[in-house]
Amino acid sequence: MAVAASATETVDLAGRLLIPAFNDGHCHPVMAGLETFGPLVSELDSVEAVITEVGRYAAENPTADWIIGGAYDPSLAPGGNFDSAWLDAVVADRPVMLHASDHHTVWCNSEALRRAGVTTETPEPTLGRIERRDAEGSHGTPLGTMREWHAIDYLRRAAPATTIDEGVAALVSASRIANSQGVAWMQDAWVERGEQAAYLEAVRRNVLTVRTNLAFRIDPDNWRDDIRAFTDARVEVEALDRPEMLTAKTAKFFVDGVIEGGTAQLLAPYCGSHDHGLPNWTRDALIEAVAAADRAGFQAHLHAIGDGAIRNALDAIEHAIATGPAWDRRPVITHVQLVHQDDLPRFAEMGVIANFQALWAQEDGMMLNLDLPRIGRERYDQQYPIATLDKSGARISFASDWPVSPNDFVAAISVAATRQTADGYPSGGWTPHERFDVEKGLLASTLGSAYQGFTESWRGTLAVGNAADLVVLGSDITASDPLAMRTVRPEATYLGGVLVYSRE
Ligand SMILES: [Zn+2]
Repeated sequence: MAVAASATETVDLAGRLLIPAFNDGHCHPVMAGLETFGPLVSELDSVEAVITEVGRYAAENPTADWIIGGAYDPSLAPGGNFDSAWLDAVVADRPVMLHASDHHTVWCNSEALRRAGVTTETPEPTLGRIERRDAEGSHGTPLGTMREWHAIDYLRRAAPATTIDEGVAALVSASRIANSQGVAWMQDAWVERGEQAAYLEAVRRNVLTVRTNLAFRIDPDNWRDDIRAFTDARVEVEALDRPEMLTAKTAKFFVDGVIEGGTAQLLAPYCGSHDHGLPNWTRDALIEAVAAADRAGFQAHLHAIGDGAIRNALDAIEHAIATGPAWDRRPVITHVQLVHQDDLPRFAEMGVIANFQALWAQEDGMMLNLDLPRIGRERYDQQYPIATLDKSGARISFASDWPVSPNDFVAAISVAATRQTADGYPSGGWTPHERFDVEKGLLASTLGSAYQGFTESWRGTLAVGNAADLVVLGSDITASDPLAMRTVRPEATYLGGVLVYSRE
């Protein structure tokens, strides 16, 4: 009552639900913002539709030197293999480069391959794969589908870098979208050298309306230099002295790729092959690099999808704890797709936060068409063990991986609670023993990720004295059917008590 009496404004919620704003434990806002400026291919459901949209964009933007966009659905072509010739049919004179929604794959046209210098003679990169036509060995002609960083890097080096102004514009666009989804804090899970500059500028101009923690990506080939460079970058962010808006506490490691692309690191081989995937790090190098980043005071944030990658990530964290100083390190493993039974208890034992993109725990086209054939039914049904890890005492946080998938937390909480698609498939839910009820999903999306971001002492719950980072949902999702609740929308979002989104 004392709080209400001193309030400057009283809002009648009229039966709607007020909760702490969502905190997105892993996303890529600059990428998401930039995607809104290129060809809009992310909602399209056929290769033809993607090509048509690229053609439209090219015609309407005749001065764009490179056409860069995302993110197409990689399950639209068999095996996720897309041909440069399909894009050449609409744009032949300028390079085109499209990110797949997994963001571990790029589809490009022939002009992009030419500018990047990728030819039949280009050797296979160690940490990447150039898909080829008639690929007997590694000397077929490049197809136009490039997997993982060292293959994608050929194109990224040839394409123009994002300017600071473009980065700020992307953050303005990303902030608007995130606020409309009720998000008030986010973990940017992939910041390269120099990319903090756009954030610093956005905070100075007061146009960033989502509190952000940066995770700098540590490269397997340059990790010692990276840790030094990122320690300096952290000093830059701290010198800005706006810790309520921008921090840089975290180091990101891509331990492996994705199951859909056959690049996730598995303990047992992919079905019908001897292939265990494409780890980005050797176990020894990962252990050494994670410990070094930990000693430099960075929270570890490890992308690990296959059971082999998750085991190595846990081993690296174990080593950092055993050899490093005692501190509040809060290590994070994100994606947590396929966990070996023996490794499940290690999350709770070591205080490892399991960061889930709960929206992925449903049998959509990607899961059924790309994951199931690659890993087989038994491993498929072990994916995303959210309830099991929660019961083991592990801390759970939710994230979107936006723009890999939408930052719709209501939908993510619904999927976690039902393990069903929006159409209710399958009835009774896929792996129903892993269902995670709506109240728990809400906690993982608010307090869970606030803890992950070291902000739980002043936000992430509704409490007197906390920052008023709030979202109003259209109705009480804790009282509705967990499948039907998916259509409930955020109606208003507040950042520190300031209205940053209103549905009206
Ligand atoms: Zn990601």
